[in-house]
Amino acid sequence: MTKIGDGVVCVVGRKRHRGPWLVRVGPQQMVCPVCRSELFWQREVQLNTAGMTLLKLDWANESATGIQCARCSRLELFADHRQIRLGAPEQKP
Ligand SMILES: [Zn+2]
Repeated sequence: MTKIGDGVVCVVGRKRHRGPWLVRVGPQQMVCPVCRSELFWQREVQLNTAGMTLLKLDWANESATGIQCARCSRLELFADHRQIRLGAPEQKP
């Protein structure tokens, strides 16, 4: 199991940022619908489960990009990771 936040490093100026992140989905700044936080962790989420295999739905075995609220832990899933842009909080205008 990968620890949340592992594997994502962004270089801002000379500083490395490991999250949490400001997240844009397309042109929109993402805000947690529960706690209004703007900081999120990013993680890969496997969509395949034993149940899916049992139901012969292996074609649905894919991974999605999970965006998890840093404050309340609400997890949003995105099938198309290209919609997601991560930014370090220092980059906020
Ligand atoms: Zn939240």
